[in-house]
Amino acid sequence: TQFSDLNLDPRVLQALTDAGYVTPTPIQADAIPPALEGRDILGIAQTGTGKTAAFVLPMITRLAQGRARARMPRSLVLCPTRELAAQVAENFDKYTKHLKLTKALLIGGVSFKDQDALIDRGVDVLIATPGRLLDHFERGKLLLTGVQIMVVDEADRMLDMGFIPDIERIFGLVPPSRQTFFFSATMAKEIERITKTFLKDPARVEV
Ligand code: AMP
Repeated sequence: TQFSDLNLDPRVLQALTDAGYVTPTPIQADAIPPALEGRDILGIAQTGTGKTAAFVLPMITRLAQGRARARMPRSLVLCPTRELAAQVAENFDKYTKHLKLTKALLIGGVSFKDQDALIDRGVDVLIATPGRLLDHFERGKLLLTGVQIMVVDEADRMLDMGFIPDIERIFGLVPPSRQTFFFSATMAKEIERITKTFLKDPARVEV
């Protein structure tokens, strides 16, 4: 399989070509087709497997082919750490270079001011750590009712860091009709419980 066989948006394919990526990794080859069909994904994969592109590529293809909603984020990516969120944001920029999608990176340790300005202007994608996302929500700044795709990255690290209650709360703030991509390196009991509660007949992809 090559990326060009996967029904990705042509502008996404061009960005992959620019990056020199031709062949999807196994997690990408397995996750992208069901994700593009609108299915939930339960991905069991470690860092280094190409898991970031496995959710970013179908996410941006679906956003590019959908209709922009002024001021309303259509996609939310949750990451356990600032560093990981920043990495996902870098990947997003690389793969959307020929698209007009916008993003805000909502992480702690920086002032709210710049993040507020981005939210007010309106962005397609939020890439966030759970605590900072909920801070914005509680300040009344953020409406999540337009979210069509929610991603949970590195759920096992979320568990280690005590973020599972935050994640459960955030699942309650996005529409039940959303599509969910959920990635974890391992499937602890608590993670299994969350996936059973919040994912709908997910395609399970494992590497
Ligand atoms: P990740 O597991 O998402 O952290 O990705 C690991 C690294 O592999 C990142 O530096 C990616 O840019 C790179 N990468 C992801 N997918 C591919 C691919 N299909 N071909 C070549 N490199 C890739």
